[in-house]
Amino acid sequence: MRIAIIGGGIAGMAAAYELELARHGGVSVQYSIYEASSRLGGVLSSEHAGGLVLEHGPDSFLTEKPAAAELCREIGLGEDLIPSNDGERQTCIVVNDRLIPLPDGLMFLIPTKLIPTALTPLFSLKTKFRMALELLHPPRPSDEDESVAALVERHFGKEVVDRLADPLLSGIYGGDARHLSARTVLPKMVEMEMMYGSMTRGMLAAHRAMRKRMAAQKTAAPKGETPKKPRGIFTTLRGGLQQLVDALEQRIDAKCVRLNSPVAKLARESDAWRVTTSEASELYDAVILATTAWAAGTMLKDVDIDLADELSIIPYSSSITVNLVFDEKDLGPLPKGFGFLVPQVEERAMLACTFVHRKFVREGAAGKVVLRAFLGGMHKEAMLNETDEALVATVREELAEILGEEIMRPSAKPELVHVARWRRAMAQYAVGHKDRVKWICKRARSHSGLKLAGNAYDGIGISDCIRLGRQAARELVTEPAEKLKPEDRERTQAR
Ligand SMILES: Cc1cc2nc3c(=O)[nH]c(=O)nc-3n(C[C@H](O)[C@H](O)[C@H](O)COP(=O)(O)OP(=O)(O)OC[C@H]3O[C@@H](n4cnc5c(N)ncnc54)[C@H](O)[C@@H]3O)c2cc1C
Repeated sequence: MRIAIIGGGIAGMAAAYELELARHGGVSVQYSIYEASSRLGGVLSSEHAGGLVLEHGPDSFLTEKPAAAELCREIGLGEDLIPSNDGERQTCIVVNDRLIPLPDGLMFLIPTKLIPTALTPLFSLKTKFRMALELLHPPRPSDEDESVAALVERHFGKEVVDRLADPLLSGIYGGDARHLSARTVLPKMVEMEMMYGSMTRGMLAAHRAMRKRMAAQKTAAPKGETPKKPRGIFTTLRGGLQQLVDALEQRIDAKCVRLNSPVAKLARESDAWRVTTSEASELYDAVILATTAWAAGTMLKDVDIDLADELSIIPYSSSITVNLVFDEKDLGPLPKGFGFLVPQVEERAMLACTFVHRKFVREGAAGKVVLRAFLGGMHKEAMLNETDEALVATVREELAEILGEEIMRPSAKPELVHVARWRRAMAQYAVGHKDRVKWICKRARSHSGLKLAGNAYDGIGISDCIRLGRQAARELVTEPAEKLKPEDRERTQAR
């Protein structure tokens, strides 16, 4: 079987790795991985400078999603996995240029502790009163999808959307709570609302159940068992996420990798797939499309215009990361925690800033302060055209306004600066996303040998992309394809 993997980001690399495993396991499979740019890894890219690790794209993965750490262990990077420094974990929200810590007991958006919620200056008295009344919220009769903002506003009011939901979600998706789908992005909260009416009651019940489970696990653990390594909420690699890219690259046959090879289009020829770049055109038995959905849509136009259209509709946001390294002596002491999030209502360019040296403790960072600002998001495409100098100046100006000039001293010059731009790289799970993806997946299955992977479908995190990439490859070498169902044909004819 000959398989073309299109897109050499982490999803495509994970697929290639899985095919290598199959090959070593005796499966007769050959593959090529087509990558438009000059390197593998996609948005995963880190730089080593003066003993520091600077992440240009993502900086870590969520520990509770296991696929990334499992892959790291499988390829010999287990010893290099490092947890976030959760002893110092605290996130602040910028409100009128002041940094306000998220109150203790806040579980994502839901307050579970009375006193910290009552005392926090993050919310007005009116919102706090509304939060208390949320305990009496009735279940929602409809199960139609709605935006995260609509769900949160119904329960807690607009201020919680503006000061909490929006900045938290734009920190993850670079998106907008008014467009993101509640059913996709906050499925547990939608479930809680359906079961309990009040999301606070739902969260408290889930919390009690978790505490019981943990207590039971503790008593069941055999005595004398070696304690597990501490887990942080986030996990990364000592050498940065590029370490994962490099280790995977070593396991992928170099002869199968085609860099600087953007695929222009796909076509069907009998049962085969024709993959065309500007240089060549080749036939394969199957294709794993591990690019953004909009790129996949462009390539599939001649194969299935309906599928191509649905893929192209999935919105994407762009982002910019600006890394600034200072000597500790040149700045005043930073506030506690991992950094801060900036709500849209503050009308700033920055969406967030991470105090990298605090979030992950790495050798080589002693005496240095690494600040990573995150800019962009939906409807801010124009920012990508600004020069590096202009972006750095904006970040420094906003840091001085938010942190104060006693911390961000005007005299302080960064020792290192790096700007990275990620154009239309982050899929946005808009209202209706679940149904759209269900349709897309079903439709893709109707084309024998076609698989989709990447951040547009079932999770935008690194672990999700690895899981989907590996799954796509595994399915191709094990499962027969489904044929086009009558209802799909009807939909095509209806257009
Ligand atoms: C700035 C930023 C910060 C993030 N932070 C985190 C984080 O901390 N934790 C986390 O879990 N996730 C994070 N994410 C999300 C996560 O990193 C991504 O969703 C994930 O890495 C996407 O992987 P991918 O392989 O699907 O896509 P990509 O990395 O976008 O790779 C797709 C590849 O396809 C190639 N390609 C496109 N078109 C073609 C074509 N026609 N022919 C051939 N090749 C093509 C592209 O060049 C690219 O290399 C972040 C994302 C960004 C942008």
